[in-house]
Amino acid sequence: MRRAIFGGSFDPVHNGHVSLASELHKALQLDEVIVMPTGVSPFKKDMKRRPASGADRLEMCRLAFADMHFAMVSDHEISQKGVSYTVDTVRHFHGLYPNDELFLLVGGDMLMSFDRWKSWQEILSLCNLAAVSRERDGTDMDNLEKKAAELRRFGKVIFVKTEPLDISSTEIREKIIKNCDISCYVPQNVVKYILENRLYQE
Ligand code: ATP
Ligand code: MG
Repeated sequence: MRRAIFGGSFDPVHNGHVSLASELHKALQLDEVIVMPTGVSPFKKDMKRRPASGADRLEMCRLAFADMHFAMVSDHEISQKGVSYTVDTVRHFHGLYPNDELFLLVGGDMLMSFDRWKSWQEILSLCNLAAVSRERDGTDMDNLEKKAAELRRFGKVIFVKTEPLDISSTEIREKIIKNCDISCYVPQNVVKYILENRLYQE
């Protein structure tokens, strides 16, 4: 099996996430994409609190990926207490499926910071890294290609050109606070969940 792990805060999950997963599913001929909302991200652990709970982020991911037969939303990291490190998750799935070809899916920002992650060289020894750009204008392409080339000394790094969607969860949370419509950035069933549960409103 060709199996991928796609981690993130997903706070909230948005069309950029859904598009990354479906584009890479197609391009890499993946059999399964494991969508993995993080417990506490090592990079965001100083935020006073997660804007939405683990349970809410998990449920929003389930709704967003409900129609995608290849996507499986996992509570593996959320059900663990404390900071989640990608290396531990990759080790876990590598141990669980030793005969699979494992992939880790990331956006461009995560590719650029990848060599600051805990045990990143071990991650590259256990799985292939697959990345897409997040910038519509393509200004980051050179940097992304350069970084991918650097990382290739340590493992397989695949850069896939897609039509980027310029959206972030941070912008969506800000729009909700300002009462702006988010329905063109977030799947409709997730919009409904956010409104019904009054998420991200101060
Ligand atoms: P935040 O603003 O809270 O950081 P985010 O939109 O960056 O939210 P994350 O949950 O941090 O979303 O990202 C999870 C993964 O999805 C990361 O690998 C990130 O690079 C990728 N990603 C997020 N948004 C996009 C997008 N619009 N296009 C492509 N990849 C994306
Ligand atoms: Mg982010």
